[in-house]
Amino acid sequence: MTHHILRLPAVKESTGLSRSTLYLRIAHGVFTHPVGLGGRAVGWPASEVAALNAARIAGKPDADIRSWWRNWKRPARLWRRTGNAMCKRRPSYKMVKIHRSYTVEEGARLLGTHKNTVRAWVKAGLPICDSKRPMLILGRDLAAYLQERRTKNKRPCQPGEIYCVRCRAPKQPAGDMAEYQPITEQLGKLEGICPDCDLMIYRRASMAKLAEIRGILDITFAGAQRQVNESNEPIVNSALG
Ligand SMILES: [Zn+2]
Repeated sequence: MTHHILRLPAVKESTGLSRSTLYLRIAHGVFTHPVGLGGRAVGWPASEVAALNAARIAGKPDADIRSWWRNWKRPARLWRRTGNAMCKRRPSYKMVKIHRSYTVEEGARLLGTHKNTVRAWVKAGLPICDSKRPMLILGRDLAAYLQERRTKNKRPCQPGEIYCVRCRAPKQPAGDMAEYQPITEQLGKLEGICPDCDLMIYRRASMAKLAEIRGILDITFAGAQRQVNESNEPIVNSALG
C-alpha cells in the first residue's frame, strides 16, 4: 500500500468522528497519532486509519484496540524513538559558544534537542536577535538561558500548561485539548498529550482553576465523555462523589 496521508477533514469523514473525539481517542491510546507534515500541518497515515476503522467495524473493544495499537509498528514511530534516544536529556549550556549565534535548527542540533523545544524556549523568554526570520539566537543568551533554567530547575506551569516529564518543560497540550477527570468534588486530574513528544501529560487541577484554564484549553469532562462513548472505557473515576 502506498503511503497516503489524510488531513483532518478526511479523517473525520472516514471515521465519522468529530475533531474533539479523535483527539480524545489519541489521548486514550485508541487512535493513531498524527504525523507532522512540516510547519504546523499534521496528517494521519491512511493505512493506519483504515486499520483502526476495520477494528471498529469488527467490534473490537477499546481495551483490545489499545493493546493491539501499542504493538503497531509505524516506521515514523521507530524513527522518532531512535531520534529521542540520541537526544541528550539535559541540554548543557557548556556546549554553546558564546561568541557565535545560532538558528533554531543549529541550536537544536548542537544541544541534541528538537527544534520545537528551542522554539518553546524562545516563547518562554530566551531572547532572539530581532524579529526577522529565521530567528537568530546569540550564543551568550542561549548559554545564560540554559544555565538559569538549570539552576531555577523548573518554571511553574502557566494556566493551560502541563509539565512534560520527558521534555522537562511545561507544555500546552496538543490541539489545545485536555480531559478533566474528577478525583473529588473539587479536585481532579487534567490530562493531555505533549505536542512535542506525544507523551501523555497530567496535572492536578481544582474546579476553581478550571474556570481560568477553560479560556485557553478546550476541556472535556471524563464523565460527559462516558455517556457519549460505550461504557467499556476502563478509566477509573468511581471516586467521583
Ligand atoms: Zn514532551
